[in-house]
Amino acid sequence: MARRINEDCIACGSCVDECPVDCISEGDIYVIDEDACIDCGACEEVCPVDAIKEV
Ligand code: SF4
Ligand code: SF4
Repeated sequence: MARRINEDCIACGSCVDECPVDCISEGDIYVIDEDACIDCGACEEVCPVDAIKEV
């Protein structure tokens, strides 16, 4: 299990600092390395546009 960021991302950057395993990369939309993600849910809680979903 992992989380994925969808096209609703507004690149605010809030999720990056929340990730305990540093697996979120910046970009036009941010990207989660799904192999590294431990599915903790911390990023999802801070996303202002609810762009992070379980996959
Ligand atoms: S669910 Fe947790 S480990 Fe996965 S990207 Fe979000 S903050 Fe990082
Ligand atoms: S918190 Fe949400 S909107 Fe902000 S960069 Fe992360 S995924 Fe994108």
